Amino acid sequence: MPTLLQPLTDSLFTQKGVEVSVLREDLLHPGIPGNKWRKLKYNLQAAQEQGCETLVTFGGAFSNHIVAVAAAGKAFWFATIGYIRGEETLPLNPTLEYAISCGMHLRYLTRTEYRLRNDASFQAEILRTASKPYLLPEGGTNLLAVKGCTEIVTELTEPWDVLCVAAGTGGTLAGMVAGAEGKGDIIGFPALKGGEFLQAEVTELVKAYSAGEAYQNWELQTNYHFGGYAKHTPELLAFIQQFYQNHGILLDPVYTGKMLFGVFELIRQDYFPKGTKVVAVHTGGQQGWAGYAQRYGLGWPPLEMTK
Ligand SMILES: *Cc1c(COP(=O)(O)O)cnc(C)c1O
Repeated sequence: MPTLLQPLTDSLFTQKGVEVSVLREDLLHPGIPGNKWRKLKYNLQAAQEQGCETLVTFGGAFSNHIVAVAAAGKAFWFATIGYIRGEETLPLNPTLEYAISCGMHLRYLTRTEYRLRNDASFQAEILRTASKPYLLPEGGTNLLAVKGCTEIVTELTEPWDVLCVAAGTGGTLAGMVAGAEGKGDIIGFPALKGGEFLQAEVTELVKAYSAGEAYQNWELQTNYHFGGYAKHTPELLAFIQQFYQNHGILLDPVYTGKMLFGVFELIRQDYFPKGTKVVAVHTGGQQGWAGYAQRYGLGWPPLEMTK
């Protein structure tokens, strides 16, 4: 599969002398969104090799990871069980509706139970109820996911100076740092408030994957969370709409919209020297729009999508 690097034309970039392209990871797999496919690929292989039959995972009610695991289960003949944080709300939102349509079994955990999701004895207990289970952590981040995400960088044949990516658990960012092996600069844009915690998490993941290497050529830009995970401002929605009109690329409101807003801000602040080739990774997530629009009463479609 050739990588799809889409150059952007914008008077800001011309004025500042930088080149910006979007790496369309969102188009990578027809059913499994963006970086979630990268993160699942080697896990699915491992599950198959271990003779597992059921993918078991955790997520919030709007989670792209839940959607990805449900779709991957359907495509690769695994049963799937999704443990969802909080009570069931009916009617189901489009994310969970879709997960069920892929055959996923949903089970709800109270917020207190959900806090135990990484606890070994709690995991053992819930795995007893599944047939030949393969456990994927919330957000899908483990070392096989990091391995999959190294390929975002190693498959990129065009020259680049800076890679920009949105971060949730930081697994994708860690994979990209490991894949770059010290080359270039990589910037992660946390979608959560207080994203500074990712500094330690990503460092640990990279070290664990890269046999102790601690690469220094990456950083976090923690000012672009817009109030926190799954929060937004009118300014962010206006940016996403403008970006769609100018470039024909739909960003998502939780991750990629915030990241690209940040990229534009940094360029405006002359953060990148003239001549810098910036690649912004579109990790997908557009499925989230339907539930997001419903939750915030934004109407559907949420954007005026006429050119
Ligand atoms: C899950 C997700 C991310 C974050 O990936 P992490 O590996 O958890 O940091 C970024 N963008 C989109 C669209 C996602 O769905």
